[in-house]
Amino acid sequence: MEQDSNFLQTQIKELVIASTKVAHVQLGNSLEHALLVLIKSGYSAIPVLDHAYRIQGQISTTMILDKILGIERFEYEKLDHLVVEDVMNRKIPRMKGNESFLKALELSINYPFLCIEDEEGVFQGILTRKSVLALVYRHFRQL
Ligand code: AMP
Repeated sequence: MEQDSNFLQTQIKELVIASTKVAHVQLGNSLEHALLVLIKSGYSAIPVLDHAYRIQGQISTTMILDKILGIERFEYEKLDHLVVEDVMNRKIPRMKGNESFLKALELSINYPFLCIEDEEGVFQGILTRKSVLALVYRHFRQL
């Protein structure tokens, strides 16, 4: 039982994908740029940062396509005029590197990845549902 509770108190730092390896866009980038980064990276959603590398939200391919969807066609010409800030989702879960694994496990139920920030809100990286589940699996396999 004690082994179980230690596992849930694990700090998430060691599971984080470092910011240098995470595809991201910035608030003022055009939607065309964001779509290029999303498609090139192969991910459906990526973090949005400000000029000081603080986390501001997330943007997805679906959000962009929905924004340029006209009555009968995609209005691709809008991609160059609108910016990330116009369509991004600002309500995202955030965690600090010293917070517990239990909190990450709970948030991962609803989110495929969590943004990790330092005390000043500067982006440190992401924690994916995949790495959370991998740790849970390793734990139960050892029992
Ligand atoms: P995964 O569990 O590896 O499929 O990742 C879950 C989600 O996390 C992906 O769909 C992306 O939205 C995000 N993600 C994972 N790795 C990266 C990365 N290197 N750069 C940007 N976003 C990522």
